[in-house]
Amino acid sequence: MQHYDVIVVGLGAMGSAAAFQLAKSGTKVLGLDQHTPPHIHGSTHGESRLTRQAIGEGFAYVPFALRAHEIWREIEAETGEKLLNEIGAVMISSDQSDQATAKKGFLATTEAAAKKFDIQHEMLTPAEVRSRFPNFLISDNEHAYFEPGAGYLRAEQCVDNQLKLAEKYGADLRYGQVVGEIMPQADGAVNVRTQQETFSAAKVILSAGPWVRSFLHPKWHDIFQPTRQVLHWLDIEKDHQSAWENSPAFAWPHGEEPDDFFYGMPSLAAPHQFKMASEFYGAPTLPEETNREVSRAEQDEFFRRHPKDRLLGLNPNVVRSATCLYTAAPDGQFIMDDHPDMENVFLVSPCSGHGFKHSAAIGEMLAQLMTKGETSYDISPFKLSRFNRV
Ligand SMILES: Cc1cc2nc3c(=O)[nH]c(=O)nc-3n(C[C@H](O)[C@H](O)[C@H](O)COP(=O)(O)OP(=O)(O)OC[C@H]3O[C@@H](n4cnc5c(N)ncnc54)[C@H](O)[C@@H]3O)c2cc1C
Repeated sequence: MQHYDVIVVGLGAMGSAAAFQLAKSGTKVLGLDQHTPPHIHGSTHGESRLTRQAIGEGFAYVPFALRAHEIWREIEAETGEKLLNEIGAVMISSDQSDQATAKKGFLATTEAAAKKFDIQHEMLTPAEVRSRFPNFLISDNEHAYFEPGAGYLRAEQCVDNQLKLAEKYGADLRYGQVVGEIMPQADGAVNVRTQQETFSAAKVILSAGPWVRSFLHPKWHDIFQPTRQVLHWLDIEKDHQSAWENSPAFAWPHGEEPDDFFYGMPSLAAPHQFKMASEFYGAPTLPEETNREVSRAEQDEFFRRHPKDRLLGLNPNVVRSATCLYTAAPDGQFIMDDHPDMENVFLVSPCSGHGFKHSAAIGEMLAQLMTKGETSYDISPFKLSRFNRV
């Protein structure tokens, strides 16, 4: 049986970052994935992901976001490929809507985080938004936060680049390998069995995204809830394209319902097109049972509830849509902790819809933990114990 220092189970956003950082540190690492990432079956496809540094989901994330931006730049320098596009992001809301949506206090926390961590930003009045970003039809009772260093990441290229770098630094990466069982041994080693082979390691990182429940006792399953998400691409009408030139990305909590929140960024496929989605956790599903079809009615409903009357000059007929999966924790926060039942297995489930931007730094954190037994990042807010299960 082949033995490694670390085996990474799942090579998506988190696993690819971990494999890269581990290999770079000289660790003997094996990465296993059932597919060949980047792929369209998990949480990391659909071109791009929004990134920002003042994190509205909580101060605990900011050190990850700040460091991740540095690492994306380091990877760009090493590969020569552009990954991080700092086109800026504008976040718009009224005080009332900011408290009403599922991401309660998103805008207020974003502003507070920017002040606390000295992140460059501006607060804008409706008149200032109309003058600088005329494509956003802000209401008089709303205000905006603008972060010039925010933007989007080419998510699939980020994964691809990190896997290539991991291999360059000596990682053994194997695709088409479905991990069936992770088996801690009496001597502290951990065996990992795929359909083809069994491997052994001193430590295992479990980064299986929306499939993570296969490796957890059912009592934990409701804490790792895969949910179906839909991304939509919309064309900007010819007459209004000038108003969208150099548009920043956006996030917009706008109503009274928990899911009155949408966000968007430029399409990578076509110049006068924006990709957008609503921010909600939706009905629980399983990766293999998810309805991957998006109906015209679903597209029309998205347009009616979100961009209509808020974004200027969009063609209401959604050009295309794609489904993707969140793994949502009940409190919308990350889970990064020792596996509750398996010794020397570290569980990393940083999704709930906002994990990608941090993934490069999460890879670094995981490499520190695996090689030194400790990390410079504060991961105490992400422990499973907050759910009080026995
Ligand atoms: C629609 C959508 C929009 C999002 N928008 C943003 C955003 O704007 N900004 C942001 O920061 N984040 C965003 N996120 C969240 C972000 O994309 C996720 O946090 C991130 O992709 C999660 O990565 P992961 O590595 O956990 O999962 P994945 O990338 O899905 O990786 C899991 C991997 O594990 C493999 N695997 C699973 N089980 C096994 C097994 N038994 N054997 C072998 N391999 C296995 C899978 O094949 C897969 O490759 C969004 C997510 C979605 C779905």
